[in-house]
Amino acid sequence: MVEVSYNVQAAVDDKHNLVVGTHVINRNDRNALHEIALEAKEGLDSEDLTVLADKGYHNGREIQQCQQDGMQTIVAPNEIVNSNKHGTTEDYLVTRFIYHPDTDTYTCPQGKTLTTTGKWHNKTRQWDSHLFKKYRTPDCKDCPVKQLCTGRKDGGREIERSEYADAVETNLKNLQENKPLYKRRQMIIEHIFGTVKRKWGFNYTDLRGLEKVNGEFALIMTVYNLKRTINILGMTGLMEKLRKWIPDYKKVSLPSKSTVLKPLKDLCKEFGLDRPVLKLISVLNRIQGLSDTNRLYGSETGFLQKSRLFFTA
Ligand code: SF4
Repeated sequence: MVEVSYNVQAAVDDKHNLVVGTHVINRNDRNALHEIALEAKEGLDSEDLTVLADKGYHNGREIQQCQQDGMQTIVAPNEIVNSNKHGTTEDYLVTRFIYHPDTDTYTCPQGKTLTTTGKWHNKTRQWDSHLFKKYRTPDCKDCPVKQLCTGRKDGGREIERSEYADAVETNLKNLQENKPLYKRRQMIIEHIFGTVKRKWGFNYTDLRGLEKVNGEFALIMTVYNLKRTINILGMTGLMEKLRKWIPDYKKVSLPSKSTVLKPLKDLCKEFGLDRPVLKLISVLNRIQGLSDTNRLYGSETGFLQKSRLFFTA
């Protein structure tokens, strides 16, 4: 199957404006926040990450997952979700209702208490689904401002509270307390997309298929980071850092030469394949030698392990 729509995700740090997480998806931003934020957190090895994202990323589930993973979220809210938004005036929007977590009730702008039966309902929208509870009060019937609060003729005002409401409220509080920080979001992230798309002309992908496009954009972002690093450190500074760099890849436990090569030699002897296999053994020996001293050769070690399994199967 050929994927025809690609959505490039990128996380950029606010100190150096380097790409600290990137991948390509074929779904919209609304379901993308947690994955890219977690990639950035792990890439930076940060315990104290603040995630800034525009309203296209506002999704209660994604925000909650980020907070559960120890990230502070500052995501601009989307349009206020209100089941009666067409009949509701500004002073009676859902944000004017006060929620009381201890009693699980709301107080409306007229001071009346809205309660819930505790039943969870399911709402499915184009981009996700979530559970919510309904809150109502019988006082709406005689309320003098009912027409300002709800357009419903056959009932009173109904407030919906999503299963992610706590996380969304925390996020809103973070935004209100950090408005200057949120304002910097555009400067931090948009520059990179401007450079890649407008300056370098990557308005389309050369490859097809999600996996290949992921590779294509990983290369583009790597080049961006290299150019950016040269701007920060200069070419000499970058080369100096690279010379001293010891990649922190996972150490692999190497199979001993005898466990890998002995069964291989025996098997080859049995089939009279001494000559070509001697060549292979010398290559394997070389790789094993490199593996002993250089952790970059993890994939070759994997090959050694697979070879052993293959020849002893
Ligand atoms: S209509 Fe109901 S919820 Fe709205 S202000 Fe009146 S009593 Fe409160």
